[in-house]
Amino acid sequence: MSAEACPCGLGLPYAECCGRAHQRFAATGELTAPTAEALMRSRFAAFARLGEADPNHDDGAAESAAMVAYLRATWAAEHRPSAADLTPTPAEPAARFTRLAVLSTQDGGPFQDRGVVEFVAVGEGEGGRFRLHETSRFRREGGAWVYVDGEVR
Ligand SMILES: [Zn+2]
Repeated sequence: MSAEACPCGLGLPYAECCGRAHQRFAATGELTAPTAEALMRSRFAAFARLGEADPNHDDGAAESAAMVAYLRATWAAEHRPSAADLTPTPAEPAARFTRLAVLSTQDGGPFQDRGVVEFVAVGEGEGGRFRLHETSRFRREGGAWVYVDGEVR
């Protein structure tokens, strides 16, 4: 495992940060983020890795598939996009997320079942740099946090 920094911005190596949740899910199907904020960070990291994965390379395709599976598993069923919608293609490459700042959280703790996380994500897409300011809602389902929906600010 490389010691690259986790894209979520906490400053830890990926393998010791959101990579743990991604790996665990890939190996066992378990979702382990303990808080709504941790889930949000792990989803941002999955989007960021999706943006970095090279679909023309075997490792890139496997990485992309793993990140798409994680994103779908952590998305409330009523709003969950299809794998095809999330999978980047040459015609529709993934946005490249470069930075995350969590502005505030409400609830979403280890003993709660609802949570809200407000964040700003910065990235680069087809149209140049972009900034996404969103308030996301999360809920716990069968013990695991999932993303419900978000309001763009
Ligand atoms: Zn992380």
